[in-house]
Amino acid sequence: MSIENPRYHAVREIAAQRLPARTIEPDADPATDIFGKNVFSHAVMRSALPKDVYKSLMRTIHDGAPLDPQVADVVANAMKDWAIARGATHYCHWFLPLTGATAEKHDTFLVPTGDGQALVQFSGKTLIQGEPDASSFPSGGVRSTFEARGYTAWDATSPAFLMDGVNGKTLCIPTAFYSYDGTALDKKTPLLRSIAAVSAAAVRMLRLFGNTTVRSASCTVGPEQEYFLVDRRFYFLRPDLINAGRTLFGARPPKGQEMEDHYFGSIRERVLAFMMDSERTLYELGIPIKTRHNEVAPGQYEIAPVFENINIATDHNMLLMEVLKNTALKHGFKCLFHEKPFAGINGSGKHNNWSLCDDAGNNLLDPGSTPHENAQFLVFLTAVIRAVHTNAKVLRATIATAGNDHRLGANEAPPAIISIYLGDKLTEVVQGLISGKAEASSRHGGFLQLGVSSLPPLPRDDSDRNRTSPFAFTGNKFEFRAVGSSQSIAFPNTVLNTLVADALTGLADEIEKEKAAGATLEAAVQKVVQENLKKHQAILFNGDNYSAAWEQEAARRGLPNIKSSVDALASLGDPEVKAMFKRHGVYSETEADARYKILLEAYIKTINIEAQLTADMTRTMILPAALRYQGEVAGALAATKQAASNADGSAAEKVLKDVASLTSRLKGAVDKLDEIRGKADHAGHDLAGHAAFYRDQVKPAMNEVRQIADALELVVEDRYWPIPKYREMLFMI
Ligand code: ADP
Ligand code: MG
Repeated sequence: MSIENPRYHAVREIAAQRLPARTIEPDADPATDIFGKNVFSHAVMRSALPKDVYKSLMRTIHDGAPLDPQVADVVANAMKDWAIARGATHYCHWFLPLTGATAEKHDTFLVPTGDGQALVQFSGKTLIQGEPDASSFPSGGVRSTFEARGYTAWDATSPAFLMDGVNGKTLCIPTAFYSYDGTALDKKTPLLRSIAAVSAAAVRMLRLFGNTTVRSASCTVGPEQEYFLVDRRFYFLRPDLINAGRTLFGARPPKGQEMEDHYFGSIRERVLAFMMDSERTLYELGIPIKTRHNEVAPGQYEIAPVFENINIATDHNMLLMEVLKNTALKHGFKCLFHEKPFAGINGSGKHNNWSLCDDAGNNLLDPGSTPHENAQFLVFLTAVIRAVHTNAKVLRATIATAGNDHRLGANEAPPAIISIYLGDKLTEVVQGLISGKAEASSRHGGFLQLGVSSLPPLPRDDSDRNRTSPFAFTGNKFEFRAVGSSQSIAFPNTVLNTLVADALTGLADEIEKEKAAGATLEAAVQKVVQENLKKHQAILFNGDNYSAAWEQEAARRGLPNIKSSVDALASLGDPEVKAMFKRHGVYSETEADARYKILLEAYIKTINIEAQLTADMTRTMILPAALRYQGEVAGALAATKQAASNADGSAAEKVLKDVASLTSRLKGAVDKLDEIRGKADHAGHDLAGHAAFYRDQVKPAMNEVRQIADALELVVEDRYWPIPKYREMLFMI
């Protein structure tokens, strides 16, 4: 009996595929008209709410004033009317649990009246607080199940929006998620706290500079999102993609990315149709998408928005991933956010463009044009340098996941060594400040006197040339490039904000001390900036981060080079680090411990799932295919010998030998993998030891299986091979 190879079936279908039908009509509403259509935005609120209610709500949003319950009732009612008029039937509190995904539990607006009818209702109380059962979310041991109540609280600073489904819309209300005693069970709460911390520290610094009007500061973020698309017909034939998000097998195709023909290449029509469809949905959600392009690897793409306030940017990035996933399926694709879906070609990241701004919208990392602005800029710059140098390990921990381990340091993404790129001109300025001397090329002569002389012009593009740096100054913002593509940006930014808040506080203390001792502001700033730059300059590096020489140099400078997530996460348990989080009111000790635990557990679970998949696919797909082929070759050899005893059967014999040797090695390797995995549970380690076991024992055993399986892929007759090959998945779009 011949069995149809499902791969061939998929290929045939894809080959016969026509372009999808138009989903956007040429006379559709222009993007400007649909932008924000599904958002309960400030503009909507302004027109839907009585003036005093609107004003009161804005005080809550902008100044953190407590929300008046009566105001909440009016807002809830307006929100409900707005949502229902647009076809919503349900509402949900939308939150960011520690799974790293989003969560939502829907409730209908409908309330039975008891006389056989029903009406719609949505009170201020329901808007403000929800009580989802939280027992099945990771809490890192914060709560036991019997007290598993979790609460969601409306985050009025991120607008409610409508999720548009095939059969109706749901009103989603962004919320924070915490336990009965206020312990944060999510990613949003600490992010909001870190914004408050950096705001307080920035305002204090600005006051020192004589700014009496600033009331708060915040961060802006523009995350550039990379992703892969594969045809969903291939996707559903790959249990590894379905369950692990990445391929656990796959021989390198003859053509990968070496022709450099994909990056910025013309976008395939089918892909462009998907992108345009996604973008419209994103516009409706008020997400300001700006850029789309093909990325380096075949099948890889990028989408980038215009930057926004960090809290909204974080929610929007989660929504963006959701929208891309859903729209991809509609277009017959699967969208992959894993950091390394395919071995041997580039993986995906998320460039986290980050800056600080005051409440008037002034970018505090913009060098400015007057000596006063220049001096202030250099203080904020120094704060970031101090923050990253002092706590490079903590920053590294924020991007530590099993997925990101595949790409950091793999000559495609920044290395595991955290350093800062400033560009030549700014480095010259920094060196001049440290030495107290004018650099030869400084056009201004004399040494830079903060607050008196002005900075030489800093060319903007100069700072964007180095693509190998994990943390680069790009003109008026920093670009943290080592963030993983599947990650929420909440955690890296929460930590970054806290580190900068801490450094700013330290600098302000030092400047105040100098002033108390009689120094002028200029002199105090000059001294403190100089001392700090001198102390922290080891973190600055403009060269090639991929080079081996840098690894050695970084080691000489004492910079940490933490290659594995398991080790990187350890810094979250460091008492000094925990004390810093506590000092700034971002994570309590319990909350910090919980995150450390959850991240380690996620690492273990990820590798465990991958190891099981590796074993399953080997036993039930790869080995059987190889054995069938082996049997066929054996048959051919026997038949040849039988047909003519003096026939040269050496070809069949050699092939048989190769295949049989690989199949028996594969069987040995998969048995070994299972055996090792079986030991993991009884190894009796603590959590970190357990994770290290997965890294040091399970992962290598898995890799061994893959190597042999990939070698088999190159010798087994094509029609026997059951799982889509790289050369198909990456190019047949
Ligand atoms: P590229 O890195 O591709 O050259 P840009 O550096 O111009 O592109 O912008 C990348 C991202 O940085 C965009 O999302 C942009 O909105 C964002 N960005 C620009 N200015 C800021 C800022 N002040 N704060 C945060 N993000 C910013
Ligand atoms: Mg960029």
